[in-house]
Amino acid sequence: MIELGRYKYRLHASSLAADRVKKLWTCSKYTFRGCRASITTIGGSVIKQKNQHNHE
Ligand SMILES: [Zn+2]
Repeated sequence: MIELGRYKYRLHASSLAADRVKKLWTCSKYTFRGCRASITTIGGSVIKQKNQHNHE
C-alpha cells in the first residue's frame, strides 16, 4: 500500500520493464466503490497517474 496525496493505493500488478520493477496501483476504493483511479510507478517514482476518483 502506498499513499499519494489524499488517496491510498493497493498493488494491483507488477512487471519488469527494462530491468526495473513497474507497478500498477489501484485506488484502495477500487473494490469497494469501483473507483478506477490508478497510478503506475517504475523503480519507486510515479510515471503515470489516472486521478479520477469517484469519491472524496
Ligand atoms: Zn479513488
